[in-house]
Amino acid sequence: MAKLSDPITMLKGIGPTRAKQFANLNIYTLGDLICHFPRGYEDRTKLLPIVKLEPDVPACFRAMVMNTPRTAHVRKGLDITRVQVADTTGRLNVTFFNNKFAAEQLQYGHEYIFYGAVSGDFIGYSMTNPVFETMDSQPVTTRRVLPIYPLTAGLSNAAVLKAVRQALAICDTPPEIIPEAIRSQYGILDAGRAYLAIHEPASMAEAEMAKKRLIFEEFFVFSAGLSLMRASRAEKKAEPFSNLELQPFLASLPFTLTGAQRRAIEEIVADFAKGTPMNRLVQGDVGSGKTMVAAAAAYLAAKNGRQAALMAPTEILAEQHHASLSRLFEPLGLRTALLTGSATQKEKRIVRERIASGEVDLAVGTHALLSDTTVFHDLGLVIADEQHRFGVAQRSSLSAKGRDPHLLVMSATPIPRTLALLMYGDLDVSIINEMPPGREKVDTFLVGESYRARINAFIRKQVAEGHQCFVVCPAVEESEDLGIKAATVWAETLQKTVFPELRIALLHGQMKGAQKEEAMAAFARGEADVMVATTVIEVGVDVPNATLMIIEDADRFGLSQLHQLRGRVGRGKAKSYCILTSHNKNPETLQRLKTLCRNTDGFRIAEEDLALRGPGDFFGSRQSGLPVFRVANLNYDLQTLKDAQTASAGWIDESGTSDTPEAAALRARIGELFTRAEGTMN
Ligand code: ADP
Ligand code: MG
Repeated sequence: MAKLSDPITMLKGIGPTRAKQFANLNIYTLGDLICHFPRGYEDRTKLLPIVKLEPDVPACFRAMVMNTPRTAHVRKGLDITRVQVADTTGRLNVTFFNNKFAAEQLQYGHEYIFYGAVSGDFIGYSMTNPVFETMDSQPVTTRRVLPIYPLTAGLSNAAVLKAVRQALAICDTPPEIIPEAIRSQYGILDAGRAYLAIHEPASMAEAEMAKKRLIFEEFFVFSAGLSLMRASRAEKKAEPFSNLELQPFLASLPFTLTGAQRRAIEEIVADFAKGTPMNRLVQGDVGSGKTMVAAAAAYLAAKNGRQAALMAPTEILAEQHHASLSRLFEPLGLRTALLTGSATQKEKRIVRERIASGEVDLAVGTHALLSDTTVFHDLGLVIADEQHRFGVAQRSSLSAKGRDPHLLVMSATPIPRTLALLMYGDLDVSIINEMPPGREKVDTFLVGESYRARINAFIRKQVAEGHQCFVVCPAVEESEDLGIKAATVWAETLQKTVFPELRIALLHGQMKGAQKEEAMAAFARGEADVMVATTVIEVGVDVPNATLMIIEDADRFGLSQLHQLRGRVGRGKAKSYCILTSHNKNPETLQRLKTLCRNTDGFRIAEEDLALRGPGDFFGSRQSGLPVFRVANLNYDLQTLKDAQTASAGWIDESGTSDTPEAAALRARIGELFTRAEGTMN
């Protein structure tokens, strides 16, 4: 018996050329080949009588060759072979182009199984280029459910099929990782049958069963992996913080914390007291006051003689955090520092020295904080803001910088529970579901093009009152997708023909990082009245003076994304507004957008968004650390995901570390999955 790790070159017909083609599909071993699953199937199991063949619908039929095939050499490179075939119900003229094999194989008076589609004309039905097999051959292209594989240049479906069949014949399928009890509870096939049936199903129903099992398996491995990560974290040691006194910090705040903020802080304090590293996600809508929660955590770290690092996804956010936190911390005797990529080498060196010598209690920065050249004196707490841009791998590389520091991640993307488990299943979650008092809701309207003049007048009015506006477009440049507003074009139109008297700025994803930051910073300083942008403004920049957000072609965005965008206004004292425009007349689309006009709770909006669009689209085009699944499709397989999560959690609790063969195989698979994930996430 061959092993799953044996190279595919041991198979017949796979030499260096073929091996290279397979390598294009990331297939190197027999195991890779067996895990190269079909993307679909053709049901060729039913044999039809010729009279029942329907034009353009490929089907199998059994027929006798009624004459000796004749081949005509039409011109260079074109040979045409004609033959007539028949069964008791009808006759069919069959034509092959450049098919020497057909010309030689088909014999007068013999029966074959054909697969092809008839086309009808005045004279009767005919067929071109069907595939055929002799009656006694092993079914390969007829009389079966034919798997259709993902392919690459030079590699035909037949070649993949042949290789897979050989591999399955000489090699055991991947080992079982799901215990019998769970398999029978959820009605799923065992591993051996599933891996065979996904490639060679006896029926479409069996193919479905196999697929169901493999999807379950994929989710099961993933969920079990997250559970194990949690378990192994629980074994790590962290010195419990002995000083958990927050009163001086709380007393220094210009406001009292909301109940939700207090709850989150209490949960963090409990983590600090535990003796294992904290791994906590704080989820809360934009403006819910997550920064204060982070500040409380950093304060405690400092009071226990440990350093804290706060990472933001952009320089401008890092600067904003640094500005507000140093204002808060200095009177309390805490020392802060800012480290970003755009500082000069000398500035960076000085800041790094202060961090290394322990003169800094809280270091705020971008990814520069992550680099190897930044050494902390005693890092006790890592805080990542706007967490969804950081994947599992980044989280762990951060943690590696201290002696198992506490980890706090903050996300303003409300995520439905199922997805949160997928992305952050290794984290504990605190939810801030309450806004600071006095925050007025952002009034949101959905309007059509007929309101254009009124929209423009409203922009003028806001600017006249000293406020600023965002205009968000779904595209950067004009494209094939006609009728969709493009930021570059729209900014120019607004400036030249609509608001020549206003200062219009532009911000989009194709600008360079530094350019983007500068545009945003200039807008924050009040150097423009209207910022025309794409969704790049989504991430938490604070411009309290912005009171109006226009979102053009709002139907192009997901609800959660719209909610995020809307969160850019309503951050100051003045009443703020959000106007969604759309040409779309589809009642469902309009209904979806109206959800946003009625709701302000990001979690509710997220649940609706998930139900309406499915998780594949949930985060928009930027995928943000969601794991990549091979068979499973998050848009269709959510129920299976839930089942697998329940099943794996129960099983890990009972026997995850036991020595059954399934547990051992599962641990091996988890290891593979997470190395693969690290590779793609960095
Ligand atoms: P986010 O959750 O989006 O990060 P921030 O932490 O930036 O929100 O807070 C938004 C604004 O609300 C800030 O100006 C902050 O000072 C203010 N804020 C935070 N907590 C409270 C509170 N309990 N009462 C009043 N204002 C608060
Ligand atoms: Mg924030």
